[in-house]
Amino acid sequence: MSSAESNLASHLVRTAKAMPDRPAIKINGQDITYAQLHGMAAKLAGSLRANGIEPGDRVALILPNVPAFPVAFFATLLAGGVVVPMNPLLKSGEIDFFFTNSGAKVAFVWPDFVDEATKGAENSGTRIVECSPLGPVEGSFDGGDPIAEATEREGDDTAIILYTSGTTGRPKGAELTHDNVSLNAMRCAEVIQQITPDDVIMGCLPLFHVFGLVVGLNAAVRVGASLALIPRFDPAAAIKVIADEKVTVMQGVPTMYAAILNHPDSDSLDASSLRTCASGGSAMPLEVMKAFEEKFGCVILEGYGLSETSPVASFNMPDRERKPGTIGLAIPGCEMRVIDIDGNEVEHGEVGEIAIRGDNVMKGYWSNPEATAEAIPDGWFRTGDMATQDDEGYFTIVDRKKDMILRGGMNVYPREVEEVIYQHPDVLEVAVVAVPDELLGEQVGAGVALRPGATATADDIIEFTKERIAAYKYPRQVWFLDELPKGPTGKILRREVKAPASP
Ligand code: AMP
Repeated sequence: MSSAESNLASHLVRTAKAMPDRPAIKINGQDITYAQLHGMAAKLAGSLRANGIEPGDRVALILPNVPAFPVAFFATLLAGGVVVPMNPLLKSGEIDFFFTNSGAKVAFVWPDFVDEATKGAENSGTRIVECSPLGPVEGSFDGGDPIAEATEREGDDTAIILYTSGTTGRPKGAELTHDNVSLNAMRCAEVIQQITPDDVIMGCLPLFHVFGLVVGLNAAVRVGASLALIPRFDPAAAIKVIADEKVTVMQGVPTMYAAILNHPDSDSLDASSLRTCASGGSAMPLEVMKAFEEKFGCVILEGYGLSETSPVASFNMPDRERKPGTIGLAIPGCEMRVIDIDGNEVEHGEVGEIAIRGDNVMKGYWSNPEATAEAIPDGWFRTGDMATQDDEGYFTIVDRKKDMILRGGMNVYPREVEEVIYQHPDVLEVAVVAVPDELLGEQVGAGVALRPGATATADDIIEFTKERIAAYKYPRQVWFLDELPKGPTGKILRREVKAPASP
């Protein structure tokens, strides 16, 4: 793909020319058209240039899902800069690391996070620019002539640096190029969700996360669809947006689907506008999938990806057989294999690590050649996810390599046990984790959040699971939590679920 075609800013320029009056963003009952989005981004791009941002310079975003996010995102790209989206809930120490590591010169920050960001900028000297819903607070960051056309960039120039914790250690900045993001957004729009300019996409995934950023925002802008934003996920707000904006394309992580399904407001929701629903980011429990589909009369297609793969690598594609419980087939432009520890492909049906090669695989980790070499030793990106592949090419995730429980020499994959526990009618959420055990090394434990008013005891859950799964896999210890810890997209953070000291 030539650089002009893959330049992410050029997609906005093109769509704004072709469909100026089409709503790009819908929020709180208001529309921002593509012409308006482009106009605001072009103006801010000029100010970035006037304030010293040159092509290749990094600009951080610490913003919720408000229009200022796409404005600042495309402004940075129009000026040829590199966007560093950051989770607004980071603390100053973490912000310091992100700013210093990326060398961000400017950060666009939502008012609630300005104090924390200012503290975090002490070492790096990053300039903090406070934002209102549409962009920098008036008068705080002006000057320069608008940059209406995209600054020239090569396809393999970095467009976005996304910090991801990977499996362990300090976060690393996955460098996604214009080609990476542009091609993945194109495939999401064309192959996976078949998005057209008439679509309204649910923007409930955080835009600072790769899933919301590429599959939502960049796919929408490429095609000219509308993105209905919710500043921060909340099931009642999502239900209202589906109804009010007649959302046609849903994108979410499983906990979002579950939260919508279980919210009383959804009982009266007319979801007939929903045409296609994509789930990814973590394993979609089959019970949630079935119940959501029955309640709202739509089909959920599950896919798989990572920050490092821009993100989508595999999907249950709409024109192919759907296999619930699998993450589907490798998408066009992407090869996926299940390999052993030596990098050799294993037999179909055997468990190994997923390795990925393709135009969606990141350039590397920002200024971290050791981590890049470890992750991509031979052209194949090692995902750290364990899976099997069937004879038709469908992949089934078994679990994260690091989350596997080693119970007296037997491997237990938490996800399989969670699937069973989810079948218990009283269970709202569950995370299965390793509990230290003197005899076996590790034992299987489960942290459970019950539905409101439910009365199941720990023994009930243990008994229920014991009847349905091999003896070495059922949890020996079950404890209750009001809610499970979740990451920014709503993914359950298994590694933060710990058994109480004394059972
Ligand atoms: P992130 O880089 O934050 O997007 O996280 C990527 C990780 O999410 C992957 O390495 C997987 O462990 C997990 N993941 C993504 N999609 C799925 C899925 N459909 N099923 C199970 N795990 C998934």
